[in-house]
Amino acid sequence: MTRPTDFTLRGALDALAAREISAEELARAHLDAIEALNPRLNAYVAVTGERALERARASDARRARGEAGPLEGVPLGIKDLFCTEGVRTTAGSRILGDFVPPYESTVTANLLRDGAVFLGKTNLDEFAMGSSNTTSAAGPVENPWNRRNDPDTRLVPGGSSGGSAAAVAARLALGATATDTGGSIRQPAAFCGIAGMKPTYGRCSRWGVVAFASSLDQAGPMARTVEDCATLLRSMSGFDPKDSTSADMPVPDFAAACGRSVKGLRIGVPCEYRLDGMPAEIEALWQQGLEWLREAGAETVEISLPHAKYALPTYYIVAPAEASSNLARYDGVRYGLRVEERDGDLQDLYERTRAAGFGAEVKRRIMIGTYVLSAGYYDAYYLKAQKVRALIKRDFDEVFAASGAKVDAIVTPATPSAAFGMDEKQDDPVAMYLNDVFTVTANLAGLPGLSVPAGLDTQGLPLGLQVIGRAFDEETVFAVGAALERAAAFEALPAVMAGKTARAAG
Ligand code: GLN
Repeated sequence: MTRPTDFTLRGALDALAAREISAEELARAHLDAIEALNPRLNAYVAVTGERALERARASDARRARGEAGPLEGVPLGIKDLFCTEGVRTTAGSRILGDFVPPYESTVTANLLRDGAVFLGKTNLDEFAMGSSNTTSAAGPVENPWNRRNDPDTRLVPGGSSGGSAAAVAARLALGATATDTGGSIRQPAAFCGIAGMKPTYGRCSRWGVVAFASSLDQAGPMARTVEDCATLLRSMSGFDPKDSTSADMPVPDFAAACGRSVKGLRIGVPCEYRLDGMPAEIEALWQQGLEWLREAGAETVEISLPHAKYALPTYYIVAPAEASSNLARYDGVRYGLRVEERDGDLQDLYERTRAAGFGAEVKRRIMIGTYVLSAGYYDAYYLKAQKVRALIKRDFDEVFAASGAKVDAIVTPATPSAAFGMDEKQDDPVAMYLNDVFTVTANLAGLPGLSVPAGLDTQGLPLGLQVIGRAFDEETVFAVGAALERAAAFEALPAVMAGKTARAAG
């Protein structure tokens, strides 16, 4: 029999519907798994066990009354960037102190409406800034995977949604919420061998999600299969009058799109994504992915996105600029941490609170952001970056243009490397920023991007492929992603599951 934690989300919904398992049993199995593995992985910063069991029992009662919602009884992890009513929300920072939101974010409220059961809050890089989940005030998250020949090196799960990714990969949740400003869903999904979808900007409401860079932030799902991401996204999505950038668009049945044929689709292969120094196995996997799609009847087409090479520097101006503005609200006055001032000096209150509350990476971003927005530098940096951002978006508009029928989707590697060691790249911010080289373009252009686990590197670590699509055409992205998933038949298990590493055995 399938262990309850081994179900896919779809499999769990079927088993719940067939009364083979109850929501309470499913929640309990996951809480037990969290108890066993979380001390090592640190994927959850808070486990809300009592609340989960209570909600699971209510879910079982709803199902018994014939009122089951689309996610009835499904246990999920919630990135601790989503405000959850009555449950402490930290954004991975000390500065929020013991902040307990009196409201629920729209995305999590939508999931609850559809019957989901929240197991707890998952770890993340502070304010979602990072690619390694090592900047969290709650400590680093460990990737459940290990290198085959070097099982003792602890690897990062990627970031910023490293807790969500590790939890899903290690069977501590059937799925999780995450957010992606420059790659924070797709990169950790790739590092942990799971699927992760950043939807079109505006697809999911940002209301109640702690803001990092408002013009780039998008919520999205992580799960072990593409279809499970599609199922979660349908519940998460929808117009929200409380977010002025939320799109008033119909929400399609994304899961149904996973079964669509890719026959006749045109898949773009951008030459600018062929980076110097990229590991040969990543290039090989990319070629393999394209071959799989051709075998499934798609056509692959070389395309050019000439401004893609400016995406990373553009992102690292726009994102810190918006962050410096968004994070100005943490001043010790209204909520969160307060470090008392000397001599009644308000400025001193701000300085002490912010000095104690923010970590090094967040301070770096605030400084970069204030610099690029300051008089004298605004035109040279921020304004220039906005112009380049428009050109990056125009490149995509041209290849996706309906007239001339260029391409229907683009396929690239998800990341330029597999998961790295917790001590690697930590003292080199630029090396860390390079993690996002393949993912930031989709955020700058507002497009949907999906990461699909597609293979293993020579060390036995997962590698992902990314599918980028037209705005609000997540359905084609899911169809292509599901085709890659079927061909890749990725079934490898993280070391922590197989109990293979020396430390896991010890
Ligand atoms: N790694 C990127 C950064 O540090 C992206 C983070 C994100 O998508 N939230 O900004």
